[in-house]
Amino acid sequence: MLPTLVLSIALPTPLRRCFDYLPIESTELPAPGCRVTVEFGRQQLVGIVVSHNPSSDVPIDKLKPIQRVIDLSPCLNEEQLSLLEWAAKYYQAPIGEAITAALPSLLRQGEPAQLAPQFAWHLTREGLGLPAQSLSRAPKQRQALDALITHKHIGPAQLAALGLTTPPFKELEKKGLAELVELDETPESAPQSLLAEKPLQLNEEQSIALQQISLSQYQCYLLEGATGSGKTEVYLQAITKALEAGKGALVLVPEIGLTPQLVGRFQRRFNVDIVSLHSGLSDKERTQGWIQAKEGKARIVIGTRSAIFTPIPNLGLIVIDEEHDLSFKQQDGFRYSARDLAVLRANRLGIPLLMGSATPGLETLYNAIQNRYQHLRLTRRAGDAKPPTTELIDIRGQQLYEGFSSELLQRIETTLAKSEQALVFINRRGFAPAMLCHDCGWIAECSNCTAKMTVHRHPPHLHCHHCDQQRPTPRQCPECRSQDLVNLGIGTERTEHNLKELFPTTPVIRIDRDTTRRKNAMENLLAEVKPGTPCILVGTQMLAKGHHFPDVTLVAILDIDSGLFSADFRAPERMGQLLIQVAGRAGREQKPGNVVIQSHHCDHPSIQSLIKEGYHRYARRLLRERQLAGLPPYQYMALFRAESKRPANALEFLHLTKKLLRQSVAASPTMQYIGPLPAFMERKQDRYCFQLQVIAADRQQLQHLLTSVCLALDSHALSRRTRWSIDVDPQDMS
Ligand code: ADP
Ligand code: ZN
Ligand code: ZN
Repeated sequence: MLPTLVLSIALPTPLRRCFDYLPIESTELPAPGCRVTVEFGRQQLVGIVVSHNPSSDVPIDKLKPIQRVIDLSPCLNEEQLSLLEWAAKYYQAPIGEAITAALPSLLRQGEPAQLAPQFAWHLTREGLGLPAQSLSRAPKQRQALDALITHKHIGPAQLAALGLTTPPFKELEKKGLAELVELDETPESAPQSLLAEKPLQLNEEQSIALQQISLSQYQCYLLEGATGSGKTEVYLQAITKALEAGKGALVLVPEIGLTPQLVGRFQRRFNVDIVSLHSGLSDKERTQGWIQAKEGKARIVIGTRSAIFTPIPNLGLIVIDEEHDLSFKQQDGFRYSARDLAVLRANRLGIPLLMGSATPGLETLYNAIQNRYQHLRLTRRAGDAKPPTTELIDIRGQQLYEGFSSELLQRIETTLAKSEQALVFINRRGFAPAMLCHDCGWIAECSNCTAKMTVHRHPPHLHCHHCDQQRPTPRQCPECRSQDLVNLGIGTERTEHNLKELFPTTPVIRIDRDTTRRKNAMENLLAEVKPGTPCILVGTQMLAKGHHFPDVTLVAILDIDSGLFSADFRAPERMGQLLIQVAGRAGREQKPGNVVIQSHHCDHPSIQSLIKEGYHRYARRLLRERQLAGLPPYQYMALFRAESKRPANALEFLHLTKKLLRQSVAASPTMQYIGPLPAFMERKQDRYCFQLQVIAADRQQLQHLLTSVCLALDSHALSRRTRWSIDVDPQDMS
């Protein structure tokens, strides 16, 4: 008799292990990476076969057979499976959760991994033979025709990315010039060039950077260069090299950075299929994009965080734009860093990883300084744009009008008078961050969180930005019945309102989470920013990334001070990045830009260093501070969080955790346990939150310690009455 074969299967459960099942004899043995359905307790679950084993810890006659094999060929290849296994171990996550994060939702639910037929427009023979001046009276159709000449075939995704719509194509169809065909049936045309447009002539720094990038081996590169210094052009040309070598490329961008403008720029450059993967897509679109990538139908994949798990055959290069961005770290569930996993993936594949930023994260900068990453720098703006000038306005003791000094208002006025545009940055959405009773001092607080309620005007209500609780705006104070309720502080909504009153003839466009919630809302708002016409943009950090506003010459930062005094050790780094990124929106083309910053603390060493010495020096200064304090990247950190309706439960759990940690490795300067301490926000969604920090000098020792302690915690009764989690290399300490 043949020895029994056991299938080790990852299932979407919170348990940190795989589960053993037996294959079914009547069907083919599912290879590792194939999906199967199994009975798990009373549920039916979709799982992934991780390995085939000769035996199990469970007696063979106790094992159940799987129910059904979904995939005939693996959904995840060996490379991905091993990346996910590594990630699950490193981040102390259940393997089932990690694998779930890697699959698009329809595949998670067991839908077949099949490519739906793809339709695309292409030119008919009549269309191809059309004389060059035809259709000059129908510019939209001409544009569609030109796009078809350049791109040969244009599918729905490309249509959007190129800023085109369907109607002109339909008109061409009526004239017999274009037709919709199923993609695989497109007649194979003569091999066309990879490029749809000519690349820019690189300046010297860009050429040096590009020459340094070797495609034949693993190496991380940090491309550090101010906004507008031409980093994206370097990415495009590095990708060209990868494509020329017959390979594919993966481009990771921040949540907010994945704009149609960016994808459009890639589409315009390349003649290859590009897939973009982000949260704005429907489940079906996302799944289809993923399968296209897996089947090698897309040579370039552009996506946000979870795109790091996209299977791409013959991957030759990974690019991460704005590598410092917080959105590369998943903050709940499977808490991985896409940036750090990209380093691992590149290493295993023996390919380069190119990370770019104007404001590199301290971890990355440290690696570059240590020569673990190759440091490439672009110090000038590409094209004609000049770097912006920065000015501080000391607002101590000054009369402010709704947060604006008269000097700043004056500056906005002169900017508009020159038919230029101004951008006002405030890092708070809503009308006002708090509501106060002037008579008794009552403040509107969330009943679930230790947080003030934000006042909103449109529609009027109070809103907790931490737990989403909403309630009507009170007419009178619930404590003393006074009607003298004051809106304390300033949010984007309030500033929009005031600017509209001050500049009644100028469009004021607000961009924040509230105004961009609906599909296409962002594009519609951006379309209101008309070239050569004055306007004022008001918004949160959503304005700081990705968008290119050629006529914005004044960037005003109303209040930088909140970033100066925070309990989070990363706050100065984040403040510096945000300030430089926002400032980078000024003067991106011919017209010079000005950045004006209002502060009560103009002499603060952080502000002074940032403005006088620039981000790089500022960041190096922060690194020295981190070194003295023994904080990351000089040591490694993990954070245990526990939350419970009864604070005693969460505390007891973390005390137990600390005891277990200490039993394994005694506390010492190279293994410190700090806490349990209340979280920055002590109560959230009606639960009390506490944390325990572990800071270690040795990464491996930390990982071993965490693995053994998490296992012990899992089996402890206390872990069942408290919600808890572990965050390895936490980015957000709240
Ligand atoms: P970044 O990604 O660093 O913000 P971009 O690559 O977007 O910079 O370049 C900023 C602007 O400069 C873009 O309009 C781009 O077309 C232009 N640009 C980039 N490289 C060059 C170059 N070598 N010559 C001329 N213009 C360039
Ligand atoms: Zn009152
Ligand atoms: Zn709340």
